Amino acid sequence: MRVSRTVGLSGLVALGLGISSLVSAQTYQSRIEHPIVQYKMSATLDPATQTITGHYDLIWWNHTDDTIPDLYFHLYLNAFKNMDSTFMRRDPLARRHDSLTDWLTIPGKDKWGWEQIDRIQIVNGADLTPLITYAHPDDNNAGDRTVVRIALPQPIPPKGTIELSVDFTSKLPRAFARTGYDGDYFLVGQWFPKIGVYEGPGERGRTTGGWNCHQFHRYTEFYADYGSYDVDLTVPPNEIVGATGFERSANKNADGTTTYNFYQQDVHDFAWTASPRFIKVTRTFDWGKQVRGDEITRWSEILGLPAADMALRNVSVTLLLQPGHRDLEDRYFRAIFNGLKYYGLWYGAYPYDTLTVVDPPRNSYTSGMEYPTFFVAGAYFWPGKHEFGPEDVTVHEFGHQFWYGMVGNNEFEEPWLDEGFVTYSTAKVLEAAYGAPCSYLHFLGMPFPAYSWLRVPLPKFPFAGVGSVPLGPYFSCVKLPEQTSGRGAYLQYATVDDLVRNGWQYRSRMSYVVNSYQRPALDLDTLEQYLGRDVMARVMRTYQQEWRYRHPSTQDFIAVVNQVSGRNMDGFFQQFFYGSGLADYAVASIWNEPLYGNAGIYDEGGKKVYYSRQSAVQAYQKSSDKKYRSTVIVRRLGTAEAPVDIDVSFENGKVAHEHWDGRYRWTKFTYDGPGKVVSAVVDPARKLVVDANYTNNSLTVKAHRLFAVKWYIRWIFWIENLFFAAGFFS
Ligand SMILES: [Zn+2]
Repeated sequence: MRVSRTVGLSGLVALGLGISSLVSAQTYQSRIEHPIVQYKMSATLDPATQTITGHYDLIWWNHTDDTIPDLYFHLYLNAFKNMDSTFMRRDPLARRHDSLTDWLTIPGKDKWGWEQIDRIQIVNGADLTPLITYAHPDDNNAGDRTVVRIALPQPIPPKGTIELSVDFTSKLPRAFARTGYDGDYFLVGQWFPKIGVYEGPGERGRTTGGWNCHQFHRYTEFYADYGSYDVDLTVPPNEIVGATGFERSANKNADGTTTYNFYQQDVHDFAWTASPRFIKVTRTFDWGKQVRGDEITRWSEILGLPAADMALRNVSVTLLLQPGHRDLEDRYFRAIFNGLKYYGLWYGAYPYDTLTVVDPPRNSYTSGMEYPTFFVAGAYFWPGKHEFGPEDVTVHEFGHQFWYGMVGNNEFEEPWLDEGFVTYSTAKVLEAAYGAPCSYLHFLGMPFPAYSWLRVPLPKFPFAGVGSVPLGPYFSCVKLPEQTSGRGAYLQYATVDDLVRNGWQYRSRMSYVVNSYQRPALDLDTLEQYLGRDVMARVMRTYQQEWRYRHPSTQDFIAVVNQVSGRNMDGFFQQFFYGSGLADYAVASIWNEPLYGNAGIYDEGGKKVYYSRQSAVQAYQKSSDKKYRSTVIVRRLGTAEAPVDIDVSFENGKVAHEHWDGRYRWTKFTYDGPGKVVSAVVDPARKLVVDANYTNNSLTVKAHRLFAVKWYIRWIFWIENLFFAAGFFS
């Protein structure tokens, strides 16, 4: 149902406010049919030894028709146990040094982390502890301890459940790669023995069922099933605690410690943080105040949904700030609220009641990490007036609530499905909230990519308390006629690996990063250009809604694209997602040949009649009615194929709009008529955002004022590649 504009803004606002106040009075109701995991957990943090002792009861449901003979668990923290873990294997292609090099130079034994199952038992049943064996399905590295397998004495029947009682101990590493401690700051992620995902036949393209439980690799993230977490966290006095879900209680214990209870349904992980230094600020995202009636009308029309479906929810947002970052409080909240607003309007309401955001200490190696209803942002540098770095990180990590949190793709096997979607969506939110991007900045008359320059990490910066070099105010914004952001990285790495690939099997860290972030974002931009903005908006919303609390694969996304658009886009995905070719279309030549009229011998009235070529040329030169045969040749210089439009302009002002399937290596357009062709441009609407070289897309017979712009773009490419080579993109 479409809502016409005449429904009236006041009515929509009233509707919005009505739903809004109703929702705020509710507590979270589960939206999934049956939880696969139900964890009831208790954990105690000893900050002095950076150790957590814990226990949980887990009810695990076999949602398939398979009979399951074993169980798999992740012990992620064993990645940090010793140099034999698969995680610690170095990237031979890492540029300069990487964060692991820094981490390894930290002296002492406390930096190492580990995790063990002290006891695992079926509730009222067998002790499984002696049955634990280590598994290394990805690389056969016997030294890796991040996955365990337990062969069950009795298999789990189809649709059956198993109840387990587990004691565990977790030693947190010095903060590194998404988890750990830094002084009195604790970011506790991947911290308990976590059951793997059992996938049934048909799920994510599987033909037979089986466990999906990968080892912990340097560049891969996580994958887990949906369910509930009911967690008691016991910490020393004075700790400020934040966690996945909402705080149900906080009780002081006789020994002075405090036990907090957090609870959340419909999530696939639980992370938490503690530090006595946090400044805790809570504000409510009141959607009735944040979203205007005309915005609801507009998006309900674009999406073809009733206005009532556009209702968002109020969310209690807690920000845990570092001391000294009070000045960032408003910027953080504005960014989070923009995320809640635009993601909610576009993809559907954020369904949870709470969101907790951590502002991490500098150099803690924990910034920019997402967990369900909880994420770590980060602001290390001086936010200049054109620089939206803190907003970018915040909106990016918020975006993972949708692409990772609610739509639970397998981050091991298809990292682009969350990072690419988040990168694509973040640019849209930032543009909607803060205006068109200013991705290139002028400094001393030279253009520089804003992000790479201002994001230069300064871990060794000597002045305590100074966030970064205050360069921001010295830059001025440059708006280019072309979209160029991220292209330097794309051009270097699109040919290195296919985009859809296991996260640990990209050639290098940079290939993983570019093929999971920048390249899919550019590919999705291109898809949007081909489908049209409104169709793409419907694709994204449908995909989010259909796959919430489930595990889609790339093929599932393509199916949504084809279904919503009514087109078969398989070929597009084959070229740009499953392949590693670059697209590059160019206008190769324009040739205008005068049509002189008859010259030579012609059969006329049964006789052979001769016409002189010289006379024809002379007559033509005197004529005021000159005609031409014009030929335009367009080439496919890249290996990737895509249909393209071509605009051919004539000196009389007419324009021929042509279309080419873009498949063979070249094509030719020929015109006989009174006007010469003066210029031609392939892909005039810039639909093919991933075109490797825009400067060859147009050709003009005469020198053209666009020359200066072309030179400028070449310079930008060059400079971006230079920065990229220096490792400033990450
Ligand atoms: Zn991300």
